[in-house]
Amino acid sequence: MYLEKNLKIRVYTNYFLKKEHFSVKLFCIATYREKTVEKIVIVGGGAAGLELAIKLGRKLGGNKLAEILLLDKERVHFWKPHLHELATGSISLDSHCADYLSLARENNFSFYEAEVNGIDREKKVVHVKPNCDENGRELTPTCEIPYSKLVLAIGSKSNDFGVSGAKEFSLSLDSFKDAVSFQKNLVNSFLRANAMINQGKKLSEEQLKIAIVGGGATGVELASELSNAMHTLAAYGYKAVEKQCELQITLIEAGERILKNLPESISEKVNSILRKRGVKVLENSNVTIVSEKSLSLSSGEIIPAELIVWAAGIKCASFLSSIGLETNELNQINTNTKLQSIGDKNIYTVGDCGCVPWVGGPLPFVPPRAQAASQQAKYLSDQFQRELNGKESQPWRYIDFGSLVSLGRYSTVGSLMAGFSGKAFFLEGVFAKFMYVMLYKMHEYSVRGFFKTLFLNISRGFFSQTKSRIKLH
Ligand SMILES: Cc1cc2nc3c(=O)[nH]c(=O)nc-3n(C[C@H](O)[C@H](O)[C@H](O)COP(=O)(O)OP(=O)(O)OC[C@H]3O[C@@H](n4cnc5c(N)ncnc54)[C@H](O)[C@@H]3O)c2cc1C
Repeated sequence: MYLEKNLKIRVYTNYFLKKEHFSVKLFCIATYREKTVEKIVIVGGGAAGLELAIKLGRKLGGNKLAEILLLDKERVHFWKPHLHELATGSISLDSHCADYLSLARENNFSFYEAEVNGIDREKKVVHVKPNCDENGRELTPTCEIPYSKLVLAIGSKSNDFGVSGAKEFSLSLDSFKDAVSFQKNLVNSFLRANAMINQGKKLSEEQLKIAIVGGGATGVELASELSNAMHTLAAYGYKAVEKQCELQITLIEAGERILKNLPESISEKVNSILRKRGVKVLENSNVTIVSEKSLSLSSGEIIPAELIVWAAGIKCASFLSSIGLETNELNQINTNTKLQSIGDKNIYTVGDCGCVPWVGGPLPFVPPRAQAASQQAKYLSDQFQRELNGKESQPWRYIDFGSLVSLGRYSTVGSLMAGFSGKAFFLEGVFAKFMYVMLYKMHEYSVRGFFKTLFLNISRGFFSQTKSRIKLH
């Protein structure tokens, strides 16, 4: 493992004994063995960071031209755009996650499970939080990890814009753990309602109602996936629910229309598809208060809901704005077109946590998307290689291949190829679904290689024949 192989760890234990107080302070200072090779530390193994670590590991790590260390707070990688499918039980975590340690071993980089919570730019070290198990017992101590080049790839999380009660009473889809927990809550709500109906009890107003705040791609995809999943779940074993209840999903958007970053025709099309599937779409509706069993709109309307999902915009970890680098109001680090932070040429960003100028694009900055994350990973791995070979680095330019929104198993809509022609083509149906699926397959291919991706997909195909269409536990 990286730390065993490459780091000497000095542990200082200070005991402060007071009258009734005994506290232990543990400091772990990690120092690299004296070596002249570049030490590239990547923080965050998501869509961008993992692809970068793998590319660098294959190109530089194998030839010992650089030491590549990936840090992530989780042990497994799960591709974020699939979170809504995990949340509804349409896919399972086991068949879609990848072990960081195993990927590291196969691709000549090192992995250390660690949550970074600060950076000392003068000392060129990242600060790592102590890692504890579910019972609070420490697994790994707090420590400092040195770098010569640091790539921040910690992604983003949902932005509650300080709305009262949003943090306490709504769920968000920021990680696979959130999605798994949502899926459990969903199944539990069916179980509870079914039992109550069987006992002749009346359901309360909010039961079996779900409200999704945010009509962007995440909210729309979740609403659509949920409308399928709720009916499938009801049909599986919750007969009483299926016969007697109205399952209700409400999608709430503050702006004039859902999917406001896509052409208006797509918004209208998706709106009508969702309505046909029974999703209540509320546009021009601002959520002012979230409470345990409902949310209030600025119009005064109260929407009862048992499960509330917050999917309205993004922001990045707050520690990014306290490391002395230029950041925007979402805590994204401002970078130049070489993905270098403004103010520190040794710190780079890839993925959602960077605010990168979109040269020649319709927006001033590159949007937070998986395709941008992947393009940045490819660019940066090439640049690091060029730099090692003494070549001048080139600026990065985002190519927008368009946006696709998945509306369940067989349906997808969106616009495609906007980048090539400067014009967006409307796309719908099975071909659009195929293109959407290909985005994930490309990611899998980058991470696992051709044959593993092929075998994995064949095995998923066989395995799906032995399972229910939806996760029921
Ligand atoms: C439900 C949903 C659907 C989406 N659908 C699409 C889509 O269809 N198409 C599209 O282009 N985009 C989509 N997106 C957006 C896309 O997922 C993101 O733009 C993309 O994942 C960004 O990649 P990233 O590497 O920056 O961050 P992430 O993929 O989020 O990865 C961040 C990684 O950093 C780790 N991490 C976070 N904080 C720390 C820390 N302090 N220390 C160590 N590790 C840390 C996390 O564990 C994670 O592994 C969707 C997003 C969501 C939520």
